[in-house]
Amino acid sequence: MNVAFIGVGAMGAPMAACIARAHHVLTVYDSVRERAAQVATEHGCRIADGLDGLAAADFVVTMLPTGQIVRDLYLREGLAQRLRAGTVAIDMSSSDPVGTRVLGAALAACGISLIDAPVSGGVPRAAQGTLTIMIGGDDPAAIERARPLLRAMGDRLFDTGGLGSGHAMKALNNFVAAAGFAACAEALLAGQRFGLDPARMVEILNVSTGRSFLTDLVLREHVVEGKFATGFQLGLLAKDVRIAADLAHELRLDAPLVRLVSKRFEAARDTLGYTRDHTEAIKAWDQNSAV
Ligand code: NAD
Repeated sequence: MNVAFIGVGAMGAPMAACIARAHHVLTVYDSVRERAAQVATEHGCRIADGLDGLAAADFVVTMLPTGQIVRDLYLREGLAQRLRAGTVAIDMSSSDPVGTRVLGAALAACGISLIDAPVSGGVPRAAQGTLTIMIGGDDPAAIERARPLLRAMGDRLFDTGGLGSGHAMKALNNFVAAAGFAACAEALLAGQRFGLDPARMVEILNVSTGRSFLTDLVLREHVVEGKFATGFQLGLLAKDVRIAADLAHELRLDAPLVRLVSKRFEAARDTLGYTRDHTEAIKAWDQNSAV
């Protein structure tokens, strides 16, 4: 299959590598050309210098920062016009579900089927090809065509329903993770002020009811030991929680927690900067820290 991959950043580069290893004909494209060139050199795939170089694709995978960037690429920069009818577009970015439905309708008018297939698992599982993938779409035949390609990148594939449902699920997952991180950060800061040792706190959390993916895999290495290098930017997590908050608002749900967590992460992003590691948010929330 002829696959175009757009956006070979922290996640996209290892995901594209999985596609190359599965022997698909791969063309990579990134607005930072050196990133695409590095993937092409390492994995022997083609590089596109512009959108014209993607025209022959059977599948176009996007792994871009936001849904707005994905929509702009297809609709404003003219990618949709360059592709053949019958092409399947797979947006694996963590995009907003309402925007995804808008894009899906516009692409359908060009004969292109859109699937949303965001992922969870972070950079380590992207490298192993063991991501969790949440698949939404209104065209079951297109989803079946895309499934072997998705299996090259993930080993936990879930069909979530109609177009946008994968993106909704992804935002809600990240809200839960972000709320957990905010709770852990407050607990660590309070414990430290009281005189508890943060390393000992994490040890106890991990054999107690407070245990989670975060306490297990993130807190010790990235917060207590100060590595702050998960590969997931603060601005991206703030974006995800905002999508979940907007979704709750559109659904007229009384959901104060998601609004609060969204505000906390947006404040941390505004204090520290978009590209800082998301675990550094604790520095912005710590009044004793000189950030
Ligand atoms: P990143 O910033 O490392 O990579 C994004 C890439 O897109 C960059 O290489 C950038 O140059 C490129 N790009 C931006 N605008 C472009 C354009 N208009 N045309 C072509 N290329 C463009 O981000 P990332 O961490 O890889 O995240 C990508 C997506 O995956 C985001 O939606 C994010 O929320 C989601 N995600 C990230 C993680 C993670 O752990 N990093 C995990 C799951 C999901």
